[in-house]
Amino acid sequence: MTTFASPEIRTLEIRNFIGGKWQKSTSAPGLDLTNPATGEPLGQSPSGSAAEVDAAVAAAHTAFPAWRATPAADRIQFLFKLKAILEERFDELAAIITTENGKTLAESKGELRRGIENVEVACGIPVLMQGYSLEDVAPGIDEIMVRQPLGVAAIITPFNFPLMIPLWFLPYAIATGNAVVLKPSDRVPFSAARLVELINETGLPAGVVNLVNGGKAAVDALLDHPLVRAVSFVGSTPVAKYVYTRGSASGKRVQCQGGAKNHVVVLPDADPETTTKIIADSAFGCAGQRCLAVSVTVAIGEAQSWFRESIATTAAALKVGNGLDPAVQMGPVITKASRDRVVSLIGQGAGDSAKLLVDGRNVSNGDGSFVGPTVLDGLPATSSLMETEIFGPVLSVVHAKSVEEAVELIDRSPYGNASSIFTSSGAAARKFRNSVSTGNVGVNIGVPAPMAYFPFSGWKGSFFGVMHAQGRDAIEFFTDKKVIVERWPREWSRKF
Ligand code: NAD
Repeated sequence: MTTFASPEIRTLEIRNFIGGKWQKSTSAPGLDLTNPATGEPLGQSPSGSAAEVDAAVAAAHTAFPAWRATPAADRIQFLFKLKAILEERFDELAAIITTENGKTLAESKGELRRGIENVEVACGIPVLMQGYSLEDVAPGIDEIMVRQPLGVAAIITPFNFPLMIPLWFLPYAIATGNAVVLKPSDRVPFSAARLVELINETGLPAGVVNLVNGGKAAVDALLDHPLVRAVSFVGSTPVAKYVYTRGSASGKRVQCQGGAKNHVVVLPDADPETTTKIIADSAFGCAGQRCLAVSVTVAIGEAQSWFRESIATTAAALKVGNGLDPAVQMGPVITKASRDRVVSLIGQGAGDSAKLLVDGRNVSNGDGSFVGPTVLDGLPATSSLMETEIFGPVLSVVHAKSVEEAVELIDRSPYGNASSIFTSSGAAARKFRNSVSTGNVGVNIGVPAPMAYFPFSGWKGSFFGVMHAQGRDAIEFFTDKKVIVERWPREWSRKF
């Protein structure tokens, strides 16, 4: 039996939850899991199978008619309960995230808070899901638009936010009356398992939320299943593109958020101290494994000299270690393979003639998969690293003469997740936010993460689809619009 033991959390198993029952996976073994900070084995993910996916989809499909017919005001009562349970279990859930993902406890709590916000917003469904109507569009004819749930919705999530990303979708999907099959990252299955246990504690009817574990085999089965109407995906760009193409080809509604290469532009009039602190948090927080992490700082004019110096000092001073230790400021990356990849990319940057202001390659910390904060200065525009999502604590500093030049550089990026500007000039900030080609934009903000009542945007290779996660987009995504045009001639009715 696959178990997960840690002093902070109770034992969890990696099981599927299908039709209200926990079941062991019978599929072939998948990934071996370790605590990224210690190397301690945590268990093994199953690879997943089409048969398990089929059982989960069938359970969701069976639960759908009664759930859809449950009044919206009754459906959200389960979400109010879930919100209360998540608050009660806040510390326990944060410890699970940290143990399987490696981020610090403070970062785990931050992610959980942002996840809970989505539960709160979805509690507004009785208002948010409303359609609209108009009487007498022609004499005696009324027209009404209602939103109806789709049916079975699949949610496929990445390793870097084990709880927040399932909560970007799941609360809206069920509040609008859909039934869900959640397929969490096979790198971090424990947080989702605990989330589903807690969802079950709310008394939600069996089959409304199902959980299947696995990797590509489970994803492919969801993409091909004729009863799955919608697919929400977050992960790397190549997989996002694949999921979008294959899911759309089988007639599903698909939204795929992909990878990123985010830039911040620093103007000479930015406040050096706060700018450096915020950019350091964006680049090195969550060990650089945030889709909104800054990867390239474009320093304009004389900002280059002070920023280079201050970011190097700040990066070198960060305390790296096990995220369960409250004094630690940066945890490990997810796996040893990921560490080796990041270390090799740092070497590539140095080989491409960038100067290593801070070199995190030799941080050792027991058996964990650590890379220290790294600052590469002067990476040439021709280096392939300028377009590579490193997904580790590596910040490149490059130089530009003007905001226009910085915006052109960002335009050339194949990604468009986020960008930020640091300045005390409103005019420069306005010009930047108006013209930059990214879906999320920060002004003196390092991680421009939209609140739950705004869409989590993303452009170019960072997003495939139309409707984004969260907020009103989520309601549009998880519902179909039905327009009713009706006429009730007086002469056809009994006269009263
Ligand atoms: P990933 O693409 O490896 O995995 C994402 C999901 O797809 C997982 O559930 C995984 O099991 C599944 N999967 C993996 N390979 C597959 C394949 N070949 N076929 C079908 N399914 C497959 O992503 P990850 O490494 O878990 O997450 C990190 C990535 O996610 C980064 O690129 C990051 O930028 C991105 N991300 C984007 C956002 C956003 O909002 N744009 C948010 C968080 C993470």
